[in-house]
Amino acid sequence: MKKLIIANWKMNPTRGLDARKLFKSVNTIASKLKNVETVICPPLVYLESLGELVTNRACVLGSQDAFWEHAGPFTGQVSADMIFGTKARYVIVGHSERRALGETDSDINKKIKSILQFPLIPVLCVGEISRDDDHQFVKLVKNQIRLALVDLTDEEISRVVIAYEPVWAIGSKAKKACEPADCREMSHIIKTVLADLSNSEITKNIPILYGGSVNSENSESYLKDGLVDGLLVGRASLDGKEFIKILKIAEKS
Ligand code: PEP
Repeated sequence: MKKLIIANWKMNPTRGLDARKLFKSVNTIASKLKNVETVICPPLVYLESLGELVTNRACVLGSQDAFWEHAGPFTGQVSADMIFGTKARYVIVGHSERRALGETDSDINKKIKSILQFPLIPVLCVGEISRDDDHQFVKLVKNQIRLALVDLTDEEISRVVIAYEPVWAIGSKAKKACEPADCREMSHIIKTVLADLSNSEITKNIPILYGGSVNSENSESYLKDGLVDGLLVGRASLDGKEFIKILKIAEKS
């Protein structure tokens, strides 16, 4: 399986011109990689224009969210149908920054169902805010997955990507890094939840990603020892040179 490296640009950069520059510099390298699929998730407003710069399937676009309704009186929302129209292939859903704004597990479930009505791949983000000695955080992550995937068929579940993003390890306020061994343990737990959810063997191939302060220094350790199929990269994806380093490391891992 190719390594899946997803860049979450969040609400950056401020100008479309800079978004095009960054995408072009990454695409020049990413589009040539054989063992890596790169997904760039810019702010929605840039998707259409960056779509013109996509050269092949090795480096594609994704959205950072999608609303569950197709169209209608939903001010400020953008549907999966519209995102599909921009030629994006992936949609991040349930990111901790959206959950912090009030997004619920039930909202996330509705979003995934609407995304799956199109040839789009939902990237479901799960992760605990903090860890406790009683391991309640494991229950929380298991529940996030179960609730997000309620009423999905085996075939639908098999099209989902799961990104484990411990909130305490994300962003510039991260308390500490997630150890690859902790990532490995959670990846194993996620695989068990997926196996329990479905009788089908196909869930074995669901990619599991790690995200949280990934950079060129630590990416190899997650890919080698973290039992993951790829990475979800925030801050480091805004620096073209740094992100390309991560892609090259993934190409060799
Ligand atoms: C994220 O928020 O998805 C993320 C991984 O951010 P960072 O890499 O900046 O910690």
